[in-house]
Amino acid sequence: MTWRATVLTLFPAMFPGPLGVSLAGRALASGVWALEARDIRDSATDRHRSVDDTPAGGGPGMVLRADVLAAAIDAADPVPGRPRLVMSPRGRPLTQARVAELAAGPGPLIVCGRFEGIDQRVIDARGLEEVSIGDYVLSGGEIAAFALIDACVRLLPGVMGKLDSSTEESFSAGLLEYPQYTRPQIFEGRPIPETLISGDHAKVGAWRQAEAEALTRARRPDLWGARSVSRPAANAPAKGESQKTPKDKTDG
Ligand code: SAH
Repeated sequence: MTWRATVLTLFPAMFPGPLGVSLAGRALASGVWALEARDIRDSATDRHRSVDDTPAGGGPGMVLRADVLAAAIDAADPVPGRPRLVMSPRGRPLTQARVAELAAGPGPLIVCGRFEGIDQRVIDARGLEEVSIGDYVLSGGEIAAFALIDACVRLLPGVMGKLDSSTEESFSAGLLEYPQYTRPQIFEGRPIPETLISGDHAKVGAWRQAEAEALTRARRPDLWGARSVSRPAANAPAKGESQKTPKDKTDG
């Protein structure tokens, strides 16, 4: 079965948008994955095709109606079995681990909110998993859905040229990626680190591991701490580091 993303949106014309070019676009055109953007408004039942209404209890803005959205979900996914997501700043922050799970499955149904958000009852009644792409507020769920789908699609078999390039990069081992370099050998007086042009694969590997660890410790103590707790074997000190483990640091 082809991996398929079904997006429920008030703006289906936004799709495939950025997913129609480059890696994701080529894979879409060649049938590696499928994209279905469905208009929530098609499930409206009144004369004005209204999809939203004022918030109960008052306040600014409009809220997407539970009945309209539930009908849209039921029409798109009559036999539940795929992950059902709703993009939401209140959701659990998206991680590479969750992306990998979603990429390994049949592909999600994704509800894109607009305005002030969506009626809580449809989240509860249809078992929607709230997913956030970060601690900031977008004006709609579509851009968040692009991010989620793009992250999944590049993990699908046959999408990225070199099979390995997704297993070494940021987050896959709980680390940020090491710095990358390419030609020219000297740029504005800055040479490529010597180890990388030594041709010694073991040395290159050790250099990259040490750089990835240093970068993660410096920039993302949260990732570094989580890694050392869940993988005690990874506590071996990097080159030049004291015997004090990261776990000791975060415990203090
Ligand atoms: N009033 C809401 C924000 C609504 S923003 C609140 O304060 O929580 C409108 C829609 O944009 C949301 O329903 C959601 O689908 C989408 N959205 C906004 N920020 C997002 C984020 N960080 N991650 C995922 N989706 C987001």
